[in-house]
Amino acid sequence: MDPTTQKIQLRVLIVDDSVEDRYFYRRLLEQTKEYDYQLIEAGTGEEGLDCYRLLRPDCILLDFRLPDFDGLEFLDDLEGEQEQEEGMVPVVMVTGQGNEFVAVEAMKKGVKDYLVKDRITTDSLHHSIKNAVERVALLRELEEKNRKLKESNEQLEEFAYVASHDLQEPLRKIANFTELLASRYRDKLDAKAENYIEYIVDGATRMQQLIQDLLTYSRMGKREIIIETVDLNEVLKQAVTDLDILISDNQVQVTNDELPTCKADSAQLQRVFRNLISNAIKYRSDESPRIHISCRLSRNFMEIAVRDNGIGIEPRFSKRIFGVFQRLHSREEYSGTGIGLAICKKIVERHGGRIWIESQPGKGSTVFFTLPYQELMSSVSEAPLTEQHS
Ligand code: ADP
Repeated sequence: MDPTTQKIQLRVLIVDDSVEDRYFYRRLLEQTKEYDYQLIEAGTGEEGLDCYRLLRPDCILLDFRLPDFDGLEFLDDLEGEQEQEEGMVPVVMVTGQGNEFVAVEAMKKGVKDYLVKDRITTDSLHHSIKNAVERVALLRELEEKNRKLKESNEQLEEFAYVASHDLQEPLRKIANFTELLASRYRDKLDAKAENYIEYIVDGATRMQQLIQDLLTYSRMGKREIIIETVDLNEVLKQAVTDLDILISDNQVQVTNDELPTCKADSAQLQRVFRNLISNAIKYRSDESPRIHISCRLSRNFMEIAVRDNGIGIEPRFSKRIFGVFQRLHSREEYSGTGIGLAICKKIVERHGGRIWIESQPGKGSTVFFTLPYQELMSSVSEAPLTEQHS
């Protein structure tokens, strides 16, 4: 037989104490052309659970009224069984007319669909089973995809960490010995050789910086996030203090609105502010830099904006610059490796927020980031609060 025309086999467990009803469902399902139904019958809840344990059906058609327990109790027991196993079996419940309350309760317990006994037809029965099976399959597929994605991200981070960590040592050797070569043989080498040595030292130093940045970036993902109650005004103040030389050298004006208190990792948020403020200074225009930090609060999140009057960027680059080592300028124009915004993105996303930039060339930039507000307050487990010193 052509394998493409082969019907899908589906094992359905019918749990119903009425022989006539079971026979009725069997007849309906056997008329269906799409699936090859393999039907298992159980007359009591206990027997149904036994069949589930032994035969692992693809779907359960469950009568709400059973002689030993009702459908909701059956679902509770089934859930207990499934805790030991992975995944859930789709259940379609059959109720009598006027039992909407039961149906709602059953849906809350994970039942995928319900049918009213007197109105069942071949089509409605087949479609309920089919939809239930497909929805669960889709969920499983999604879960599997998420799991694989998480696993591959972790592997990638591990690789970046190990590679950047292990590359440091041989690179240090190259840099050290090249410098030694340059100093010991200074008078014996011609200008060309000296130039070459300079290129090697320059390349090695640059590579050391890149590796160091990559290491910092991958450590960011490994480091535990320490959530505590933080006053964002203090976090910002500390970031500004860390940059005081840069700020005074460039005559920067940093102003801010009153910021809220939230739950976050204070050191990591300081880093975000530091990176954004130092970028606002680095990518300054001819005017003296003016940076303003504001905040918009909504019921579920806060949106913090760091606005500058710098050179700005073309909107088409606004996504790209958050990638690792992505820059819009050469090293000669502006120093840097292109890791700063990638680190900000990682930190903000680890807090459950988003980060983006709105900008126009010559019109300054505003980097926005959100942090869950009330949600963060209630969903992140409380870390012991550090003592607050005034
Ligand atoms: P780096 O500054 O080391 O290049 P970043 O990841 O911090 O790395 O920034 C990536 C790129 O985004 C920068 O090279 C720059 O082109 C652009 N950029 C970042 N912040 C600003 C800003 N405030 N104004 C204009 N351009 C910016």
